[in-house]
Amino acid sequence: MPVRNYTYYDFTLSLCPECLRRVDAKIVFENGNVYMLKRCKEHGNSKVLIADDIEYYKNMRHYNKPSETPYTFNTKTDYGCPYDCGLCPDHEQHSCLTVVEVTDRCNLTCPTCYAGSSPTYGRHRTLDEVKAMLDTIVKNEKEPDVVQISGGEPTIHPQFWEIMDYAKSLPIRHLMLNTNGIKIAKDFAFTERLKTYAPDFEVYLQFDSFENSVLQELRGADLTDIRKQAIDNLNKLNLSTTLVVVLQKGLNDGEIGKIIEYALKQKCIRGVTFQPTQIAGRLDNFNPETDRMTLTEVRRKIMEQTTIFNGDDLLPVPCNPDALVMGYALKLGDEVFPLTRYINPNDLLDNSKNTIIYEQDEQLQGKMIELFSTGNSVEKAEENLKSIMCCLPNIDAPELGYDNLFRVIIMQFIDAYNFDVRAIKKSCVHIVDKDNKIIPFETMNLFYRDDKKAKLEALRNEIL
Ligand code: SF4
Repeated sequence: MPVRNYTYYDFTLSLCPECLRRVDAKIVFENGNVYMLKRCKEHGNSKVLIADDIEYYKNMRHYNKPSETPYTFNTKTDYGCPYDCGLCPDHEQHSCLTVVEVTDRCNLTCPTCYAGSSPTYGRHRTLDEVKAMLDTIVKNEKEPDVVQISGGEPTIHPQFWEIMDYAKSLPIRHLMLNTNGIKIAKDFAFTERLKTYAPDFEVYLQFDSFENSVLQELRGADLTDIRKQAIDNLNKLNLSTTLVVVLQKGLNDGEIGKIIEYALKQKCIRGVTFQPTQIAGRLDNFNPETDRMTLTEVRRKIMEQTTIFNGDDLLPVPCNPDALVMGYALKLGDEVFPLTRYINPNDLLDNSKNTIIYEQDEQLQGKMIELFSTGNSVEKAEENLKSIMCCLPNIDAPELGYDNLFRVIIMQFIDAYNFDVRAIKKSCVHIVDKDNKIIPFETMNLFYRDDKKAKLEALRNEIL
């Protein structure tokens, strides 16, 4: 009897990477990898690598928890996902993190920029427009968990401080500034003023590599000194910072461990977020069957390149398990303790019990007592560990502060190749657009930016 060379696992809807029409997709296992098999009537068959770890891929499905929704939806469900964003009532997760793009402009011209920003592209949003966008988030969420002021490069907005003041006046739990760090590096008074927004304020700082050649490739400039100066300034103020690393296969994926080790030694750094990127247009002969950098590959590389995390420490995030992996550690003096392994998976899936209690682990508790009794205690915390992000578990450890926490996140954004309608409905990183709609980050870049809207209308007209 003829037998297929793969094991059929699931069926979903995806997109044709050429025309962005919805197409049927099978999920199959073959040679230890997970692939998506698709067929477009016009553009033929495609095979896309979506994971290189079958067990993790299957296990991730166990991390779903009941969906939390926003208080308001901003569109109707008319054309079917993903042509109705958003958020339409069919969406299955509220905005855990909402991005506010306050300007199209940037003081860099990164070849990797998803928004196409540059010093001359587009315009700054007016203060009134930005206020309306922030008000939309508050209307949807009441008390938004994380709002990220972003761009372009938000620090070049002429009314940057007014924007920050307005955002801080709203009931936002955690405010973030997404920046390339140039202003922070060059202007210490600017960084000191940023510190006035703490607590519950964090810098989300681009940091892709230690190598000039890699930075040239990803950012179009040598930013090694800028990055170092920015982190020096942030360290002086102990201003909470997350490093954001855009990972490109074969370019900087060998630096993952080095970046984590460096980050652990910096006083201001609370974690590293890795974002694997696919730049199909810029790689000669890009083959989606072999060349994609998957979330499971990044997870494996973290385990290979560091001694801190094992498989039990890098778990799916229940808000959006297809797209997010988390790993927690505690920084105590010069020592680092992995923490995620102590999470009870059942608690993780229960919104009301989402807490790690360190006293539950004797080894960890013993270590803490030793550290405190030898005078090696941590500084008085300025921010409480409990108030972090909704996607991630709370940590109940009264002696510790946010300074003691270190978290590694892998954030894989869906694109036209790996698009899975099942997973996109759980997207929890959203962008508020200038029409005051809330759009999942991934579909924004596929359909909802100004230069994509004509295509979206054509696809919608086909459906009617
Ligand atoms: S991605 Fe979400 S908001 Fe957009 S169409 Fe699908 S369900 Fe609706």
